[in-house]
Amino acid sequence: MFMPMDGVKHEMERGCKHFSVDDSREDMEALLEVIYGGLRIDTVALTAESFPLLSSLLQMCTKYEIERPRSEVIARIQANWPHDLAKHDAIVDARIRRYMNTHVHELPQNTLLCDVDEDMDLHPAAVISLLRQCGYTTPELLAALFYALSRCSKKFGGTAPGFSISPLSHADIERLIVGIERLREAHSRLMIAMPLGQQAHMQLCGPGLLTHNNTQVFPAAVNGLNRPIEFWRAAADKVQRATQGLPGTRPPCAACCDAAAATIRASREALWGRMAEIFELA
Ligand SMILES: [Zn+2]
Repeated sequence: MFMPMDGVKHEMERGCKHFSVDDSREDMEALLEVIYGGLRIDTVALTAESFPLLSSLLQMCTKYEIERPRSEVIARIQANWPHDLAKHDAIVDARIRRYMNTHVHELPQNTLLCDVDEDMDLHPAAVISLLRQCGYTTPELLAALFYALSRCSKKFGGTAPGFSISPLSHADIERLIVGIERLREAHSRLMIAMPLGQQAHMQLCGPGLLTHNNTQVFPAAVNGLNRPIEFWRAAADKVQRATQGLPGTRPPCAACCDAAAATIRASREALWGRMAEIFELA
C-alpha cells in the first residue's frame, strides 16, 4: 500500500520503514480498523453516528485504491438510497408500517397515505458531498440521493437556514433546484392527465372514475408535491380499488380501474427512470 518514491531515502524506526502521511489520525485509524482490526462494513448501519467512520473509510480507500471496503461503503449507501424502484418502495413500506404501528388511530378514514416524514438521521446532502469528494459521478447512485434531498426541501430553512444544502457545491445546488422544478411539473402533468379507464368504456366508466379522482385523489395531491414517486404509487392503488363506487355514481368496472392504475404505474416508473436526467446527472 505504501511504497517509497524512487530514489527517496526512507528513515527507519525500530527496524521498520518510516513514512510520513498527510492523513488525519481519525482517517488512518478507520483504515487500519478495516485492514487489521476486522471491522466489517456490511454490519455497520449507515446513520449519522456511523457516518464519520464510513466517510473516513471511503476517502482513505479511494485515496489508497483499496477496492473491497470502498465498494462495501458504496453498497451501504445504495441500500439506504437504492436506484432500484422496488427496493425504494420496500423502504417506504417499512417506514409506513412503523408509523402505522403507533399512529393508526390518528389517521382519518380513507386517507391516501403515500409516505411519512423520515427522521432525517443522516442528511442526503452530506452523502452527496462525500461521493463528490471521492470522485463518484455514477448517475444512478446520485439520482436516488438527489431525489431524497428534494423530498425534504420543505424543511429547508427553519432554525438553521442553509444547513441542509451547505455541503453541496454550487453546481449541485443548481441541479437540485432544476430537479425540484421538473419534479413539480411532472407531478402536475400526471394530475392533469389522470386516466379514465378503457377508451371503449369512456361513457360508461369514465364519469365514475372522474368523480373518484376528484374526490379521492386530487385533494391529497398537494401532499404528493414533494414526493411524487410515493404519491403516485398510492394513487394507483387507490384507483384500482375504485370499483367500490361512490354514492350517486355508477362504479367503474374492474377492467377500467386496472387499466387506469396500470397507466399511472407506468408513468410513475418512467418518472423514476428519468431521475438522473431530471437532476442533470446523466
Ligand atoms: Zn369499464
